[in-house]
Amino acid sequence: MLEHIDIQVGRTGKLTPVGRLAPVLVGGVTVTNVTLHNRDEIARLGVRPGDRVVIQRAGDVIPQVVENLTREEHRPAFAFPDHCPECGSEAVAEEGEVDVRCTGGLICPAQRTERLKHFVSRGALDIEGLGEKTIDQFFALGWLESPADIFRLKDRREDILALDGWQDKSVDNLLASIEAKRAPDAARLLFGLGIRHIGAVTARDLMKAFATLPKLRETADKAHSGDEEAAAELTSIDGVGPVVVEALGDFFHEEHNQTVWDDLLTELDPPPYVVETRDSPVAGKIVVFTGKLETMSRDEAKAQAERLGARAAGSVSAKTDLVVAGPGAGSKLKKAAELGIEVIDEAGWAQIVAAAN
Ligand SMILES: [Zn+2]
Repeated sequence: MLEHIDIQVGRTGKLTPVGRLAPVLVGGVTVTNVTLHNRDEIARLGVRPGDRVVIQRAGDVIPQVVENLTREEHRPAFAFPDHCPECGSEAVAEEGEVDVRCTGGLICPAQRTERLKHFVSRGALDIEGLGEKTIDQFFALGWLESPADIFRLKDRREDILALDGWQDKSVDNLLASIEAKRAPDAARLLFGLGIRHIGAVTARDLMKAFATLPKLRETADKAHSGDEEAAAELTSIDGVGPVVVEALGDFFHEEHNQTVWDDLLTELDPPPYVVETRDSPVAGKIVVFTGKLETMSRDEAKAQAERLGARAAGSVSAKTDLVVAGPGAGSKLKKAAELGIEVIDEAGWAQIVAAAN
């Protein structure tokens, strides 16, 4: 007999229903738990607490319900929660998805350490020395309730020092690498929030378009409350569709997330986003493309140069640092030779681009 249906929240926020049974012997093993997979499965089986069910156990996997013997009994259907049992945030299934997820993200205890690890990871804030074990340890000590607490660890210098394995130098190094991120790259910070569907690339695209996080949030809030113009402004960005808009809106709409976010901004001051140029050997240099380019258009070549922090110019002068010459290069190539400017071919350019990616 199915006594209860409990909802477990996974590290990614997924709500998984688990059936609790009156103990029953199956193949010599006492079974008290069965997985019910998801909301759709519960609906398919029509199971409710109090039902008699047939279960199946295969190998080491958690047994599952295959049939509901008392489906016809008149009792209300099981109401799948629309709020996370761990944190009370709204729990939603996105269109076309069966899994219901907690939208609490930063605040949900079930997801918190994973979110913190993501927040400090390389692609996000990239805080050196704050590894997964340290996060687990500090979290267990109650020092990291939210991401902003990372920036308050400086007040715990003596406490950290008192822990096993920490010396003056390692504590100082950790605190210094945290301090170094007080004015973080806005796109990394956005990515670090771990909002669903906001990967590193989307975060950059959004910040390119909105420059500051408050502006992005304002637009996402408007879109969330039905402002079509705001939604259109977001979806006009390459790679941003309705799913992203909804995820952003849901995130900022959640009161817990607002609190965490406002708290973060008391500690952090991300400067307005400027298109990130990669570190490359041509950063700051003036590049001239001449002759026929075989693998890309002239516009693409110029865009590549800009991404690498270089500036593409139309003519060769004493200020030119590098000439990329394809077949048929004429007077510009000759001038470059006269001025002693470095000349490379398209393959050489491709190597520079590849090395910077
Ligand atoms: Zn939650």
